[in-house]
Amino acid sequence: MSLSFADLEHLYQLPFNDLIREAHELYKHHHAVNTIHLCGAISIKTGNCPEDCAYCPQSVHYKTYVSKAMLSDPNDVLDIAFYAKTLGITHFCLGAAWSYVPNGRAFQKILEIVRKVHSTGLQVCCSLGSISEEQAQSLIDAGCTTYNYNLDTSPDFYTKIITTRTFESRYKTLQMIRKSNLKISCGGILGMGETISDRLKLIYLISQLSPQPEMVPLNALVAIEGTPLGQKAFIDPLEYVRIVALARIAMPRTIIAMAAGRYKMSFETQALVFFSGANAIYIGERILTTPTPDLNADLDMLEKLGMNAHAYNIDLRQ
Ligand code: SAM
Ligand code: SF4
Repeated sequence: MSLSFADLEHLYQLPFNDLIREAHELYKHHHAVNTIHLCGAISIKTGNCPEDCAYCPQSVHYKTYVSKAMLSDPNDVLDIAFYAKTLGITHFCLGAAWSYVPNGRAFQKILEIVRKVHSTGLQVCCSLGSISEEQAQSLIDAGCTTYNYNLDTSPDFYTKIITTRTFESRYKTLQMIRKSNLKISCGGILGMGETISDRLKLIYLISQLSPQPEMVPLNALVAIEGTPLGQKAFIDPLEYVRIVALARIAMPRTIIAMAAGRYKMSFETQALVFFSGANAIYIGERILTTPTPDLNADLDMLEKLGMNAHAYNIDLRQ
């Protein structure tokens, strides 16, 4: 049974321990709590994006450290995919700084990249901006299993963060992708100056997708110099834990991923986040263009917590 917005507001008021205990109980019921899904995310087309997302170093509107790069060579991506496998990664995300996927040669190259990565046995996830129904089907045919399309924040706060598209158009495309045979990865960013109510609305709207998304990546804003949010302080870590716990209660069967910003969180915060129901992390050199923690520190952390890498094969469409 899906939770109402009022249910989420009520849960948010609970004392911290009660909230995370409730989240953990549900988590334990639906998942193997000492296993974690290891993900990788690389950028296959970097920078020069026409959108003006205020957090993003890849927007053409801001001057940041990101150097632009054209669409990657499929064989180079294949090499990285093989390397990712050696790290224990099972879910591999290909990100592109586009507002929508152009048809023609670029899309044919994307399909070649997807086919090559799929041939390694990795689960392929694409995050390429808006797509059409036909493109969704071609991606499936090439071996893509999941599409990442984040809502990022609440409808009310959206206009303060992005002016080049609307929340409504994003949500409509998301619903179209949900109807395709692609699994959905849909999350957001916390710590951009939004209110608690904006955070709850984001989780509420994501949880209302039917079926719920297979994966929800929760990013903590990495404030990047040159972007309008470049001076924002990092989110209060316990607040991040609370939102993960709420997401777990609202979406008991979903994989919840700690995404960007994890490198700024202590080992102890991460342990609390895992207790509260997060069961995926991105490892490797980078998550698209933002840093990840040192790989050895990550492997050390998982060993200390007694957590093993595990390939979930989840599908909430049935
Ligand atoms: N262009 C495509 C799109 O917007 O759907 C895909 C790539 S985009 C870089 C993927 C996601 O990265 C965004 O939706 C956002 O959630 C996340 N992201 C980008 N910059 C970030 C930052 N500075 N801090 C945290 N998350 C960020
Ligand atoms: Fe472009 Fe995606 Fe960055 Fe927005 S988040 S500027 S759409 S790459």
